[in-house]
Amino acid sequence: MSDHANSLSLLRDIFGYDAFRGEQQRIIDTVVSGQHALVVMPTGGGKSLCYQLPALLRDGVGLVISPLIALMQDQVAQLQQVGVRAMCLHSGLSREERDRVFWTLSAGELDLLYCAPERLLGGDFISQIDADKLALIAIDEAHCVSRWGHDFRPEYLRLGVLAEHFPNVPRLALTATADSATRDEIALQLKMEQAERFVASFDRPNITYRVHEKTQARQQLTQLLKTEHAGDSGIVYRLSRADVDKTAMWLATAGFAALPYHAGMSAGDRARNQARFSSEDGIVMVATIAFGMGIDKPDVRFVAHVDLPDSIESYYQETGRAGRDGLPATAWMAYGLGDVVRRRSMLEQSATDDQRKTIERRKLDSMLGFCELTGCRRQALLAYFGQTLDEPCGNCDNCLNPPQTWDATEASQKLLSTIYRTGQRFGANYVFDVLVGSSNERIISLGHDRLPVHGIGEDLSKSQWRTLLRQLVARDFVAVDHHGGLRLTDACRPLLRGDCQFQVRKLRKPSKATSKSKATTLVSPENQALFEVLRDTRAMLANEQGVPAYVVFADSTLAAMAEHQPTDHDAFADLSGVGQVKLERYADTFIEVIADFARERL
Ligand code: ADP
Ligand code: ZN
Repeated sequence: MSDHANSLSLLRDIFGYDAFRGEQQRIIDTVVSGQHALVVMPTGGGKSLCYQLPALLRDGVGLVISPLIALMQDQVAQLQQVGVRAMCLHSGLSREERDRVFWTLSAGELDLLYCAPERLLGGDFISQIDADKLALIAIDEAHCVSRWGHDFRPEYLRLGVLAEHFPNVPRLALTATADSATRDEIALQLKMEQAERFVASFDRPNITYRVHEKTQARQQLTQLLKTEHAGDSGIVYRLSRADVDKTAMWLATAGFAALPYHAGMSAGDRARNQARFSSEDGIVMVATIAFGMGIDKPDVRFVAHVDLPDSIESYYQETGRAGRDGLPATAWMAYGLGDVVRRRSMLEQSATDDQRKTIERRKLDSMLGFCELTGCRRQALLAYFGQTLDEPCGNCDNCLNPPQTWDATEASQKLLSTIYRTGQRFGANYVFDVLVGSSNERIISLGHDRLPVHGIGEDLSKSQWRTLLRQLVARDFVAVDHHGGLRLTDACRPLLRGDCQFQVRKLRKPSKATSKSKATTLVSPENQALFEVLRDTRAMLANEQGVPAYVVFADSTLAAMAEHQPTDHDAFADLSGVGQVKLERYADTFIEVIADFARERL
């Protein structure tokens, strides 16, 4: 059989999938033929198979470098479930466990060995590895070499030595990081300039992107969790540790299974919460960006940003943790004037040098532009990463429920004039009061009730003025100092003079935006009850083995089971995600549950 046919039959027999996705086949062929590959694929794109299958097809063991113990353990558990001989090596192992790994390795009884970089580079382990016994070397999360990224790992910089030790072993570097500068850095640091590059589309079609105007964050978030994601696993991102603690607390009080995660917690508490998140169904993790790379959980159904991310890169990476399994998922954000002000002042007050500040300012501006967008969000996201989507996606808030716009040129001039006439030192609320013609004590004592701008904005409500101000600040027409004082920028001059027009979004009732979103249920309503029973069965089987539920079967396999209701092994084997080993291991149990369920219904 050719390598090509071989890889397809392994895909079916072992993993239970019908066909390769995207570039998987080409990447696998490249590595099987002994060449190097640099793989850039979004989260959930299917990177693991790109090294797992070649490791099985080539002689020897596949060595996989992975930065986090939790990631390794998940992968190993998943491989063992499908009958692949995999183990991991990291500092958390006891002496006996470690000896067992070495023993199995030298007996040639391993297909894949996952290894932490410090474990590989420490001591003389690397010189003990016989190059002839290596099928390939895969460097996962390769963007960890980048000093500029959130996930920088100093040990990753030393992985270049692998090129010298094992020049003839094919190497793969894999990452989900989208920008091209990081790609070049990976190639350079890992000495993989010659590697063939595979850059997949960054589109995540199953994710619905939504940005809502922040009115009452708490209520909006609760609404999302209750009405659209009851019982689902999800992540709520917050900017500060204090807000993480508070949010987790009130969500728990409101009856949600919410847990906190941030760098201020002890390592033990963090590990415990992360383990619960990945193994239990329906946990809502409230976290800072410290909760990131280790998330391998495929069935995260929503990612909610209650605070504004600092860049589109961060937003894309964080929202990308939703829906790795390809099933419908929500990326939700609530965003308001306070977010713009906070991010801008954090940036200006940070200790970084001017050059870097300029870059960060540009990134924040792009993020704000994305929030204020009236067109398709997916088209904008992809364009940011240099890719194109020809048609609007039909699966973002702006596509599902096109925002109305209005010409705010004149209103903006009124607002700008009021800021100017009151001396460019007052906060938003005061300026709104003057605009709508309020005569409170402070206004009178400062004589601002006699200004010509007093009351010129009566036609709009304060919340409409707030929406407009947010958009002016987002566009950098108005600056906010760290006391909240508003001031005009040079950029606003053309607008003040009437040389340009300003079209903005209309304030939208928060509930309306969600009304037309796609349903996020995984199975048809008539099979929902069976799906729940199958979920319980899966939880029980996972529990017995001490592995996360999705290691037994992905949600997509379970959903297919609920829809097709197989009654024999042949039909069971046809489900996507059922290979030889899982067929033997689980078919009887699930077939029986399905039959019982059907009988009780009669
Ligand atoms: P990544 O590492 O790129 O984030 P994974 O390798 O974890 O993604 O794959 C994401 C999900 O897609 C997993 O559940 C995996 O089993 C599934 N998957 C990967 N390749 C295929 C395929 N060819 N057909 C069906 N499912 C696949
Ligand atoms: Zn769209």
